[in-house]
Amino acid sequence: MTPPSGADTAASPATTEAVVDLRAIAHNVATIAATTEAAVMAVVKADGFGHGLVPIARTALDAGATWLGVTSAAEAMTLRAAGVDAPILTWLHRPDEDFRALIDAGVDISAASVEHVRGIAASASATRPATVHLKVDTGMSRNGAVPGEWPHLVDAAYDLERAGLLRVRGVWTHLATADEPERPETARQLAAFDDALKVASATGLAPALRHVANSAGALAVPESHFDLVRAGIATYGIEPVVGRAYGLRPAMTLRARAILVKRVPPGTGVSYGLDYTTTRPTTLVLVPLGYADGVPRNVAPAAEVWMRGRRHRIAGRVSMDQFVIDVGDTPATIGDEIILFGPGDRGEPTARDWAGWSDTNAHEILTRIGPRVPRRHIPASQRPPQPGPPRQRPPTKESPHV
Ligand SMILES: *Cc1c(COP(=O)(O)O)cnc(C)c1O
Repeated sequence: MTPPSGADTAASPATTEAVVDLRAIAHNVATIAATTEAAVMAVVKADGFGHGLVPIARTALDAGATWLGVTSAAEAMTLRAAGVDAPILTWLHRPDEDFRALIDAGVDISAASVEHVRGIAASASATRPATVHLKVDTGMSRNGAVPGEWPHLVDAAYDLERAGLLRVRGVWTHLATADEPERPETARQLAAFDDALKVASATGLAPALRHVANSAGALAVPESHFDLVRAGIATYGIEPVVGRAYGLRPAMTLRARAILVKRVPPGTGVSYGLDYTTTRPTTLVLVPLGYADGVPRNVAPAAEVWMRGRRHRIAGRVSMDQFVIDVGDTPATIGDEIILFGPGDRGEPTARDWAGWSDTNAHEILTRIGPRVPRRHIPASQRPPQPGPPRQRPPTKESPHV
């Protein structure tokens, strides 16, 4: 599968924007779907990892995903209100929430305790049963019922299913170390999941969907696929296993335009604390994005951005709304395009690079991009920019209109 070529961002006049290439999202979902027989859930929580909930959901469904994953009722209802009628699973709830809107909207709800199945059933009725996925903790110790609680959860769910208030569609768990395929804990979690499935079927439950894999599991741990894989970060084009490439393509490009350019002498201190001092006559460029937009304040001195065909260092501290770059003798003018991160094929930094510079993961870099940054979506149907001038054939009588 050929990844789409780079988004042509240079033409955009926007002062700041996050360009989301939906062609890359479609490519990534198709790439994930091609690695498995299982169904693909596109995990679109946290506003589609910062890429825009509804456009990502629609694109992922068109590209072969059949499920959507979110963590809150608000996200699920936003999808339904936008007309998205695909199956949705939502998984972070208090047991005493009012689940009626979710049940009426046909949204599946995760339950990780007896209190949760009872709470969900309290919002259900025999004419409007809730559909649940029971979550087991197989070793991550985050969400899910521990093995000692699991039989009680399964029993409670079975009773409520018999009473007509619940339908148990899924049994699921989450892997803690799938992004490090050499670690032994994944196999232990899979064994614990098998035990949990045996308990469920011995009780009389027959869940149609068993699901375990996140992005790393989907791409690197075939034994974790079961009936459905839940792909988050891979959907957005970040390779989930360090050192391995599955042909994914980063979808987001974060860019801005220079709003001020100045020439300064050697010995000039820059930004709060004057931590950075110029060592020669140089040009400083002001970039109107800061930590309120999600640019990490704690970045290593090595942090770079892309301008005029090369990388330039960030000079001094990132402020709330702005930061400065030292571009040396590069000719710079107000309005110059500055790319903080993108797919990387021009040489610009990637979200992964920023993750390294600020000691976090690419998930956090993407999801922290704030609401003040406008998102612009390149449609999945738009043809990638062609290399070189288009060669036009003279129209013939038979040539159809395209
Ligand atoms: C966020 C999340 C995922 C997606 O994980 P990625 O590593 O981003 O693919 C899958 N399952 C659950 C339960 C999650 O919370």
